[in-house]
Amino acid sequence: MVKADAYGHGMTACARALSKLGVDCFGVAEMAEGIKLREHNIHEPIFIMAGVLPLTITSLFEYKLTPVLVDDTCLQHLSREAVQRSRVISVHVKVDAGMGRQGLLLADLPHILHVIKSLPGIALGGIMAHLPMADDPFSDSTATIFTSFSDQLKKCQKYLPPDLQIHLANSGGTLYFNQTHCDMIRPGISLYGYYPDGHNGRQQSRVHLQPVMRFSSRIIQVKDVPAGTGLGYGHIFTTQRPSKIAIIPVGYEDGYLRCLSNKAMGLVQGYKVPTVGRISMNLTMFDVTEVDNVCPGDECVLLGQQGHEEITADDIACWMETINYEVLCLFGNLNNRVYVEQ
Ligand SMILES: *Cc1c(COP(=O)(O)O)cnc(C)c1O
Repeated sequence: MVKADAYGHGMTACARALSKLGVDCFGVAEMAEGIKLREHNIHEPIFIMAGVLPLTITSLFEYKLTPVLVDDTCLQHLSREAVQRSRVISVHVKVDAGMGRQGLLLADLPHILHVIKSLPGIALGGIMAHLPMADDPFSDSTATIFTSFSDQLKKCQKYLPPDLQIHLANSGGTLYFNQTHCDMIRPGISLYGYYPDGHNGRQQSRVHLQPVMRFSSRIIQVKDVPAGTGLGYGHIFTTQRPSKIAIIPVGYEDGYLRCLSNKAMGLVQGYKVPTVGRISMNLTMFDVTEVDNVCPGDECVLLGQQGHEEITADDIACWMETINYEVLCLFGNLNNRVYVEQ
């Protein structure tokens, strides 16, 4: 899964790297993402996961993208276009087997499969579902959903071609529920070195994942201030002692959100240092009083390792009261990316 610009890591660069490693297919949310991958010479099958509309069908054919159908809206159009072009288009059907979001209800599966079988130019390539709670290894939800999904598939046997691909495992399914692997898995967050259940996964999973993204800046000013100095907008922090403050040119514009003020930690010279005062649009302050010899130009790490310390997207997600996914998308998609070969 390389949607959302590969969770902030850069879709085309990641797809190129993953292609070299031998992945079979790519998943994106939207048509425009699929087109971009094709324009960057990615040749594997690409699934448009969020569904398609009749008005975008020509691009599907032009760029050889695989539509995921969430209902029967496009079927007639797809068939007509395929016949006109003397092509057979492979489609994957998305069922709502318990996610409660996109896709057709399990009960409607036989009907759509029947229609697909009756239409020329369309081949059923796969049937998929999405799991709402696979990030919780102890939830019963995944097993229940898997059972009702499998039961319904058995009832549809006469519509299923021999080379059909069944897939429903996201990272949670991949890591915690082996029975959901079926013919194909769709890992997203785990590709980028994070667990769908954040800190818990990192502490408890037997699979060791290494975070891919690092976010760093450089200190542009170091300043000594006396005790009792109010720092930044609103003076939400006042120094209790003579303090040394390091300022970096990163702010909420760069995804380092204002809600991290007085909460987040950064790394300077291998030490954890706290943000102090309001994070503003382009500037953030850290209290580096306890670190020796801090100078303008020194690296300040906001996400990743420095020396023996590390700040993970899970740490930041806790401070922001969100999940690691959101942190990676924010930081990655709002900042310059540099790729490091290892
Ligand atoms: C995003 C997505 C995934 C990947 O989910 P992760 O939790 O990041 O592994 C899998 N399947 C579908 C349909 C998705 O949209």
